[in-house]
Amino acid sequence: MALIVQKYGGTSVGTTARILTVAQRIARYHREGHRLVVVVSAMSGETNRLLALAREISPNPSPRELDVVAATGEQVTIGLLAIALQERGLNAKSYTGGQVGILTDNAFTKARILGIDEARMRKDLDAGTIVIVAGFQGVDVDGNITTLGRGGSDTSGVALAAALRADECQIYTDVDGVYTTDPRIVPEARRLDTVTFEEMLEMASLGSKILQIRSVEFAGKYKVKLRVLSSFDDPESTSKGTLITYEEDDTMEQAIISGIAFNRDEAKISVMGVEDKPGIAYSIVGPVAAANLEVDMIVQNIGASGHTDFSFTVNRSEYQKTMDVLQNVRGKSFTAREIIGDNKICKVSVVGIGMRSHVGIASKMFKALADEGINIQMISTSEIKISVVIDEKYLELAVRVLHDAFELEKAPG
Ligand code: ASP
Ligand code: MG
Repeated sequence: MALIVQKYGGTSVGTTARILTVAQRIARYHREGHRLVVVVSAMSGETNRLLALAREISPNPSPRELDVVAATGEQVTIGLLAIALQERGLNAKSYTGGQVGILTDNAFTKARILGIDEARMRKDLDAGTIVIVAGFQGVDVDGNITTLGRGGSDTSGVALAAALRADECQIYTDVDGVYTTDPRIVPEARRLDTVTFEEMLEMASLGSKILQIRSVEFAGKYKVKLRVLSSFDDPESTSKGTLITYEEDDTMEQAIISGIAFNRDEAKISVMGVEDKPGIAYSIVGPVAAANLEVDMIVQNIGASGHTDFSFTVNRSEYQKTMDVLQNVRGKSFTAREIIGDNKICKVSVVGIGMRSHVGIASKMFKALADEGINIQMISTSEIKISVVIDEKYLELAVRVLHDAFELEKAPG
């Protein structure tokens, strides 16, 4: 008997038939004696459709009104799900974000949750009612409707679980958990029973787009037990998905490497022959940051005869803008022999908490890539990951050989 928050994403409620299946799963948890708060997204494709409607009318709609429009998607699904549960003879009530006191700041289209008033939900739960809440939305102090950014229902679910001190937050999606890598690239990829919160953050930000990154951060902050499960499994299935754990409460034997993450949306820029003197990194990265462009990996060569080369990566969609910024400040902020770029690169990373206590991971990684003749262009490391930048055309090969080299198809222990 637990208090469980379940979150169902867009594909899980994509049709009325899918909504009926969701209701069947909820009914099962209810029958098992659990108290349930259920957060839903809009039906898949609906948020895109709504935002496109606004853009048909204006190329630049006001963010406040965009949120008014976008938030309606979730209002449809909460009502439909409540009706589906009532059809099964269960007590269920649907609420918008505002109605259950999800208070946010007023940063329309990317608002942050400030607080949740659980009183109303508690009352329903005590009365045995299943509470259905619209994801992705809240209200600011003035009662304006706000949304939390694309994929924001994950964050709604985690925030509700934190506020209610739920025993578990179950995120239902179209995959049955977190995998050692993308199974479309490596068919032998294995579902992880557990992954630590830190590893999940690395995997999510590196392109394993299962959970909105902000929701993972939120879960970490409030130590919410998060579990990723599939809504496409049989509603009576006992599959446990992937549990995201916190290192301190994890007594299990940890795998050294948990997964291979990758990101195709990268571009590399090199500023060649800059003066090797204090302030040079700032003179290059400063103007880029001032233009609100996010710099990822950074490498500076050892200087030779007073000059050095400086390279970094940015999101591929911001490649041209970054090049323009650098060309504009070149000669003013810094001098350089040339500025070159490559937007056909990708980043591949080996992620694992066990790296903290094991040596030789980097050498094994580099050997596996060398054996395939894959040239490494940049390297960066942290306590729990090693990332390399390589030519985009080798991405799948690299992921495959690394998955193989670290024997990730085998369960640890
Ligand atoms: N419906 C919103 C979106 O499509 C929020 C979500 O699904 O998490 O981004
Ligand atoms: Mg989502």
